[in-house]
Amino acid sequence: MGRCKLCGKEKAEIRLAYARLNLCRTCFTEKFFPNRVRRTVEAYKMFPADASVAVAVSGGKDSAALLHSLREAFPAVQLVAVHLDLGIPEYSEEAERSVEALCRSLNVKLKIYRLKSEEGFAIGDFKATRYGSKLCSVCGVVKRRRLGRIAAELGVDALVTGHNLDDTVESLMATFTAGDFQQLVRLKPVLPAQQPLPRKVKPFYRTPEREAFLYAEFLSLPFSRQKCPYLSGSRSLRGKRLLDLWESEEPGFKYRVLSAFEKLIPLIECSIPQPEYMYCKVCGLPSSQPVCADCRRIEALKSRNAVRT
Ligand code: SF4
Ligand code: ZN
Repeated sequence: MGRCKLCGKEKAEIRLAYARLNLCRTCFTEKFFPNRVRRTVEAYKMFPADASVAVAVSGGKDSAALLHSLREAFPAVQLVAVHLDLGIPEYSEEAERSVEALCRSLNVKLKIYRLKSEEGFAIGDFKATRYGSKLCSVCGVVKRRRLGRIAAELGVDALVTGHNLDDTVESLMATFTAGDFQQLVRLKPVLPAQQPLPRKVKPFYRTPEREAFLYAEFLSLPFSRQKCPYLSGSRSLRGKRLLDLWESEEPGFKYRVLSAFEKLIPLIECSIPQPEYMYCKVCGLPSSQPVCADCRRIEALKSRNAVRT
């Protein structure tokens, strides 16, 4: 791979084919990676350099890399990490240990929310409901709602999530091919605040998943390598594998999809009416339907339990 293209001294260890760039470990972790995070936050006006933000941390590589790189890129930003204990056997315990070690090493305040003790259920309990065949989708709804609520309670300027380039491009392709153009707008890197929920932002919007992993790995950040037992056969994993194949044949493909999306968004926003936001009759939070997706799922869980008892 030769010498690093930035410092010209060290041996290159990582090749970024889409940029025709070979970098050494130090230039990658100290310059290239945090600089791109800083540029992304600034370009999309995600939050100002003195903001207070809640960072969703799952215990995986993306959130470890996210918290560390935000600390590097924005030393004046007040960070609070928020972790949801989903009650998934072994996986959740390991995730929590990693999150605690990470926050301790970065000296970041950590808030843990336990589904089981706060609300009496764990993600696996949804298996017994009509949502059981799509556990990841239900888990996404549950996480989104609680992270938003906790961020609102903390009174932060923004809720930050670790969605990376691969997550976004995979969701774009899936949403696009499903013809759900209204939903495409939800994949933007900044979603505005909806009272009382703060804005949601994705500083890894332009960061490939592989690089988040390498950043966490090179810096020996604590992160869990356990696979969630509910993950197998997930549509998004298959989609990502296909995108990786495409990217290996045509470096830069994922960025090109993102650019096309950015050109499309203003057209969609002008031509397709977005759903009117109302407030959920049950929980009182913003929703596109009279009862929000989260409350509908919790209701299914409760009625299932009621039938059983
Ligand atoms: Fe939730 Fe699916 Fe992720 Fe497991 S793999 S934590 S069920 S979203
Ligand atoms: Zn609700």
